[in-house]
Amino acid sequence: MKFEAIAVENIPLIHKGDNLPSVISERIELQDRDIIIIASTIVAKAEGENFRLEDVTPDEQALEIAARTGKDARFIQAVLARSKEVFVEAPFMLVTTLAGHTCVNAGVDESNIEHGFLLYPPGNPDASASKIGGELERISGKKLSVIITDTNGRAFKIGQTGVAIGIYKIKPIKRWIGEKDLFGKLLEITEEAVADELAGAANLLMGEGAGGVPVVVIRGLDYYCEENTSIKEYYRPEDMDVLKKGLRCLRNQK
Ligand code: GDP
Ligand code: MN
Ligand code: MN
Repeated sequence: MKFEAIAVENIPLIHKGDNLPSVISERIELQDRDIIIIASTIVAKAEGENFRLEDVTPDEQALEIAARTGKDARFIQAVLARSKEVFVEAPFMLVTTLAGHTCVNAGVDESNIEHGFLLYPPGNPDASASKIGGELERISGKKLSVIITDTNGRAFKIGQTGVAIGIYKIKPIKRWIGEKDLFGKLLEITEEAVADELAGAANLLMGEGAGGVPVVVIRGLDYYCEENTSIKEYYRPEDMDVLKKGLRCLRNQK
């Protein structure tokens, strides 16, 4: 058993309007069932999500949080603009984004973008993945999956990892429920977060700095799914989300 992770080399700096499917397909010959992993940073750049801090006008809520936390009100405003719920304000903003992903600073980032600019994450990463995936399939004539990734921290643990924030034609979860273990016992709850695992693997080649590797192709695994899939399969229903309930309690006590 084995699979490959292939860095797509020589991708240029990406700017608004760049056509990522052609940028990618000009640099690698894709094969059936390849999984194309793309850093959200270049998707956001191509979608024109870069902005200057000085162009952001903080509203009342942003000013209030800034006063409480000592942070830049314009940065808080940028985070709030992409958030539907705030769970933690300091030492970092922990929010659920409009797209439903819960992460620090709503994914607003200032690394790997020109000086003076910040980057919002793609507004609808599933839609971005579908658009890029559909176009890559059209160009290559192959059946392909796409995962858009970002780097996130983990609850309870030090250290960040690549995670999936948008997908196209890949089963994000492999259900082990009903399968047997080595000793014939039935597995009752295990659901493997395949898209996150692949994002983590690809991130080993991407790195976080000046590596210039925003696209990695995973070859030799079969998680292709003919129907459309959504990253929303990962988001726990509100009534079952114990951590969010706890964080809301803490906020209300203040
Ligand atoms: P994120 O995890 O989506 O926030 O992306 P990162 O900022 O961590 O970047 C992941 C990888 O993509 C790193 O190797 C960066 O050097 C690279 N990268 C980011 N932007 C570009 C770009 O415009 N062109 C190229 N070639 N690489 C980029
Ligand atoms: Mn990022
Ligand atoms: Mn990263």
